[in-house]
Amino acid sequence: MTKTCPKCNQPNIAEAMFCQNCSSPLSSGPTIGAQQAVGQPPPAGGTGQKATIALVLAIVALICCGPFAGIPAAIVGWMELDAIKKGQSPEGGKWMAQVGLWGGVASSLLHIGGYIIWILLSMMAASNPYYY
Ligand SMILES: [Zn+2]
Repeated sequence: MTKTCPKCNQPNIAEAMFCQNCSSPLSSGPTIGAQQAVGQPPPAGGTGQKATIALVLAIVALICCGPFAGIPAAIVGWMELDAIKKGQSPEGGKWMAQVGLWGGVASSLLHIGGYIIWILLSMMAASNPYYY
């Protein structure tokens, strides 16, 4: 593939930033795509830092802290999924972000549900005459 200089019609290689003949900038065509590819980190391989944080928070939420860690896990996971969708974060962290998001939501609900059941049970126990 070659690029033709808009000023002097000299054929240049596709990667050329400037014309070999007259040194005028060659901004059109594949050069823009090449510059964008160089400017971004490679999307495949490796994981984003936020994806790891979301995963760790989701695990912490499941083990002990419920919504206190689950809600941040869901928020960080959501943000990371959004960043992956826009190509700002590596694709490798997608499952971690999803686990963070849904794990955070699930453990928040589980713990809140657990508190409600515990309160209901203690209310029932308190109102049950056979407990006296
Ligand atoms: Zn030229």
